[in-house]
Amino acid sequence: MKKPDRSSWKLDTLLVHSTEQDHVTEATGMPTVQPIYASTTYLHRDTEALDYALGGALPSGEQAYAYARQGNPNAHALENILCQAEAGAGAVVFASGMAAIHAALLAAGLAPGSKILAAQDLYGTTITLLRKILMPGGVEVVLCDLYGTDAAARIEEEQPDVVYVETLSNPLVKLIDLDTISAAASKVGAVSIVDSTFTTPYLVRPIEHGFDLVVHSATKYMGGHGDSTAGVVISAKNALLDLLRTYANTLGAMLSPFESHLIMRGLKTLTLRMERQCDNALQVARFLQRHPAVECVHYPGLPGHPQHELASRLLEHGRFGGLLAFELKAQSRAAAFCFMDNLQLCLRAATLGDVYSQVSYPPIASHRNLTESERQSMGITDGCIRLSVGIENVEDIINDLDQALTSS
Ligand SMILES: *Cc1c(COP(=O)(O)O)cnc(C)c1O
Repeated sequence: MKKPDRSSWKLDTLLVHSTEQDHVTEATGMPTVQPIYASTTYLHRDTEALDYALGGALPSGEQAYAYARQGNPNAHALENILCQAEAGAGAVVFASGMAAIHAALLAAGLAPGSKILAAQDLYGTTITLLRKILMPGGVEVVLCDLYGTDAAARIEEEQPDVVYVETLSNPLVKLIDLDTISAAASKVGAVSIVDSTFTTPYLVRPIEHGFDLVVHSATKYMGGHGDSTAGVVISAKNALLDLLRTYANTLGAMLSPFESHLIMRGLKTLTLRMERQCDNALQVARFLQRHPAVECVHYPGLPGHPQHELASRLLEHGRFGGLLAFELKAQSRAAAFCFMDNLQLCLRAATLGDVYSQVSYPPIASHRNLTESERQSMGITDGCIRLSVGIENVEDIINDLDQALTSS
């Protein structure tokens, strides 16, 4: 068989055919799925070859392996596919989304005396990383609202070294204006980083909108089955890749062969799952909007959402993501707990993006480490529920939400 030219393939095709033929010869027979290389160490023809392998590459430029923490064939295959999916220059995979975010922040140049400007609605653990690890290390951290029309002015005023945002905020699914933010960051010479976990390359590829680094928690939609923890950083340029790889290696954060295999397997159905999850989410959002027990629904696919027009422009396939939030009319923790306890199909879980529908209550999960007034200032009320819509039959999801709302 001839080696395929993948460069012309659409995302769906690319993800399904991601692992074939990279590893063995025709003579030995070719498995359609890349084997899991559990080995921690690799043997070479002679010491000179080992010397090259320890340096990371052969004189031909081909990747070579010596020790799994420095890189392994499964992680490398996953990096190649994610790099192409995001239209980047290169990618490095990590043992978790947080490890990927940490490495991206360091590679972007955060060091004592430098400054990061970030959206205030960030994923809770990312805020903790900034406050507990980077601030004590002498990094100035400024959190502000970067979803409004004054975002560019704010970046210019603060003159940060790094600008950090998320495509969609958690849990209120506010959409960031990627083009405006990347242009403003580039104007002040800041490195721009975006966490694109909620959108995936199916909905938007931020490098095409000017971002320098894209990070994902691959634990969520990419894996999609709730059985693997992983992260990735994709770089728009070659320049930061060596640094990212050094952090993966020296911080011990390289993704294992088995987890790489699981994420790769999940990616094969990413576009199918996204289609179904986005379509289900829109129907669920419309249902919740009409429900007498619901105060309001946050979902960029609804015409009333403040960024609906931006979302229609920025997100592809006429789809708006699988995640939404809604507020119960009874704005209390007790009402939220009662609703969640009444659910029979939707799972109470701290994660999102899996094949099954999952609900989360931000004050005890993603926003646990914030004070009540911090949560209120972000617009997260006591009746706010986050829902990650799964691939189940949408009628079953709606019936479950209905019975739980009605009996609460
Ligand atoms: C889950 C998540 C992370 C952290 O990823 P882990 O894989 O859990 O380390 C970062 N950002 C977002 C938006 C997330 O949802």
